[in-house]
Amino acid sequence: MSAPIDGTHDAALQSWVASANAPGTDFPVQNLPLGVFARSGDARPRIGCAIGDQVLDLEACAERGLLRGLPEDVEEACRTVTLNALMGLEPRLRGTLRHRLSHLLRAEGAFVTARNDRADVLLPQSEAEMRLPAAVGDYTDFYASIFHANNVGRMLRPDNPLLPNYRWVPIGYHGRASSLLVSGATVPRPRGQTAPRGEGPPEFGPTRSLDYELEVGAFLGPGNTLGSPIPIAEAEEHVFGLCLANDWSARDVQRWEYQPLGPFLSKSFATSLSPWVVTAEALAPFRVPAFVRPDGDPEPLPHLRGEDDAARGGIDLRLEVLLSSEAMRREGKPPVRVSRSNLRDLYWTLAQMVTHHSSNGCNLRPGDLIASGTVSGPEEESRGCLLERTWRGEQPFTLPTGEERRFLEDGDEVILRGRCERDSFVPIGFGECRGVIERFDEGVRSQT
Ligand code: MN
Repeated sequence: MSAPIDGTHDAALQSWVASANAPGTDFPVQNLPLGVFARSGDARPRIGCAIGDQVLDLEACAERGLLRGLPEDVEEACRTVTLNALMGLEPRLRGTLRHRLSHLLRAEGAFVTARNDRADVLLPQSEAEMRLPAAVGDYTDFYASIFHANNVGRMLRPDNPLLPNYRWVPIGYHGRASSLLVSGATVPRPRGQTAPRGEGPPEFGPTRSLDYELEVGAFLGPGNTLGSPIPIAEAEEHVFGLCLANDWSARDVQRWEYQPLGPFLSKSFATSLSPWVVTAEALAPFRVPAFVRPDGDPEPLPHLRGEDDAARGGIDLRLEVLLSSEAMRREGKPPVRVSRSNLRDLYWTLAQMVTHHSSNGCNLRPGDLIASGTVSGPEEESRGCLLERTWRGEQPFTLPTGEERRFLEDGDEVILRGRCERDSFVPIGFGECRGVIERFDEGVRSQT
């Protein structure tokens, strides 16, 4: 079952941290996302909770006794340097932390508050250097948007865009955990083999069709033991929380290498993640029915079919991509929005991805990451990557500086944002996932 709505979602709750009550903040007291940060000058990372424009330092809270009374495992997990231990806890225990954080940060009526210790437990986000939220053991990227799959298929196989397995199997490939980057890290333009005419011989050099992919990542836990698949009815309990993910892709490299085993070096050079993990509990008010399959599409096989999943397996999460070129920043022009879509349009739910992933007995572990695949919708403006947005570069668009874009140029910054809104609830946001493309300079690299 997915997490319930409770008192921590009450729209009347306010925080004593003033910036958390500002309309439009991503991090009101109803959100309470978790992340890992380092204070400047201190190398040891700590776990924090974003509140308004501040961070609540959980290590400092523990030192001041503010986590006293929580189950021992929870307090211990809060004093480690990644979220892995928290992700390994069963949902009931994770829930105790959310309730405590809500009490520590709410304005009134709290039996325990961090207000009196604020000088010691709170720091501005601008002083927190964000790290990856977890030590990711394995990273799997899915392909769960049928709109994305259909568009990409149309470019490759106009007569037969969607392969027959798509409606039966949540398609995925094994991603690379070592090149996961936290938002803000620069992305070096990768080199690779490309074959401009589609046949060999290929050439080797910097990619000419660098792309972003607008995706949502899910950190998993507690996970399963090898040989014990996770049933669909229990799959939600293994989703700890979500972040934004940019699966940078080199399309020319991908086109040459992807058959017969799927993407490899066209994807493994970098994936950027937003630093704050919005927990499954925080998302409870924004659950919606799973995507309704059009008439004529098959029902999923029984092991991928769940009553709760059909009723609440979707998440109403509005996503957008913004782009800013080096020249735009130089001229003081704000980033422009290039796409807008919604996670609820995925053909497969997160629970179906988790169940499918473990259905062969494969074990999932706390801190594993799965990503949704490019989140595209039915409209042109909801296409979640440039490959679709400019139709393989055939339909370029113009930036406010007059520059044209088919694919990403050096110095381009891509910004992903996500936000959940629903009447009678306080909106919550995901913060940002940013990355700037770094120029590939052979001369400089070979000298160093
Ligand atoms: Mn992807």
